[in-house]
Amino acid sequence: MTHLKPARTRMAPSPTGRFHLGSARTALFDYLLAKKTGGQFVLRIEDTDRKRFVPGSEEEIIASLKWLGLEPDEGPGYGGPYGPYRQTERRQIYAEHAQLLVDKGAAFPCFCTPERLSAVRQEQQKRKETPRYDGTCRRLSPQEAARRIADGEKYVIRFKMPYEGVTVARDLLRGEIVTENRYLDDAVLLKSDGLPTYHLAAMVDDHLMDITHVLRGSEWLPTFPLHVNVVRAFGWEEPVWVHLSVFLKPSGKGKMSKREAAQAVTDGYSIFVKDMEGLGYTPEGVLNWIALMGWGVAEDDVMSLDEMIERFDVEKLTPSPAAINFNKLDHFNGTHIRRLPVEELARRIKPFFVEAGYAVDDDTLLRVTPLIRERLVTLDDCIPFGGFFFQETVNPDPQDLVAKGLSAAQSAEVARRALEILSAAESISPETAEPPLRALVEETGYSAGQVFGILRVAITGQRVSPPLFESMEVIGKAKVIERLEKAAALLDQLV
Ligand code: GLU
Repeated sequence: MTHLKPARTRMAPSPTGRFHLGSARTALFDYLLAKKTGGQFVLRIEDTDRKRFVPGSEEEIIASLKWLGLEPDEGPGYGGPYGPYRQTERRQIYAEHAQLLVDKGAAFPCFCTPERLSAVRQEQQKRKETPRYDGTCRRLSPQEAARRIADGEKYVIRFKMPYEGVTVARDLLRGEIVTENRYLDDAVLLKSDGLPTYHLAAMVDDHLMDITHVLRGSEWLPTFPLHVNVVRAFGWEEPVWVHLSVFLKPSGKGKMSKREAAQAVTDGYSIFVKDMEGLGYTPEGVLNWIALMGWGVAEDDVMSLDEMIERFDVEKLTPSPAAINFNKLDHFNGTHIRRLPVEELARRIKPFFVEAGYAVDDDTLLRVTPLIRERLVTLDDCIPFGGFFFQETVNPDPQDLVAKGLSAAQSAEVARRALEILSAAESISPETAEPPLRALVEETGYSAGQVFGILRVAITGQRVSPPLFESMEVIGKAKVIERLEKAAALLDQLV
């Protein structure tokens, strides 16, 4: 690592909607860099755009980070020496800093009305010029500007972008980005309501909060030259800038859109972190999946959060876009489920059983968990694979009880023979049940698949189940007998 100094990173979401995978990935990389270097991960809520404010989104951001295990060291509700961490609580700071730039001659009050600005823009478009502020108020004398402010005229504060020369901005992953200043605009820093735009607020806060690395989405690349100019106008040291890759649709063709997000929900997935818990995903699986979208490690690297911290290197992030592949999410989720200790997995699947209305006792749950673990892709798969363990009775489809290649009568006979064998056993376990039932296979001349298929459907109510003999042991002799009797009766009705 080249950055051995403790890094201070921040995730700076706007509370304008739901917390999605992109934000989660930024948070993850921020977190990893901070933890790797013994620094801090800061949460800052950028809520100055009141028109786009969505109530509840700050709560969702915090809950999502908590669920993922990416808890900030500082932030709203967490405290810290650099607060407040909500931008609307820092208005005064931005107003003062905007004034500082005006005093330095690097920004100016602008009184142009929206109507005038739009007329100017239309003219420029007609002339095929890049639309930009035409500099009218930039030319006002400080005295004239002060007089108009004193008269109560409405104004914004704009950045005075140099007209000539070039801006060289450096991104850690992308290298130098050189822009001719004549393409850059005199951006608004402070709006007429006194609230800052992102261009001012984020730069001021990153400086005042001692942020060393700014990790953010590549949608900020177009305004990146503006941002470095603002930081330089203050005379501040720049953070290390890291623009992360964009997420593409699962097809890899085009950016992730609202439509794709809706399609994901239809397919049983979601791009919103808070939905993933209910869909049976684990934080470990989600983190591993998103880590690999933009971090240049092997595609199938299985890592826990601690292992990620161990291996993280911010310079190994890659700027190339990553397609969202939900099959990989399933893969990592299943893999991490199998890495969980049995007790922990039992604790996590229990709410799904309860939610589905099963009366779950912890003893049975602990015996069921290792039997179904191999088959779980999502935690809620515990219901199709293990629900029957907690049912008084099962209701197999009679047709499913008929083994392939056998008649209903022959299948009923198999069920009855198994019934005799198991009734004679003192208790049912793989040791007591498997040898005599294998002998039954021999005796009948049918295949193991046919015989055990009948028993599986009879005892579990379904064609796919965890290992049969272990399942019988957990269900217990009395219920196994009952279920076989019922199956034989159902098959008789088919004859
Ligand atoms: N508030 C900005 C956003 O949500 C933050 C970008 C950044 O991380 O600087 O897009």
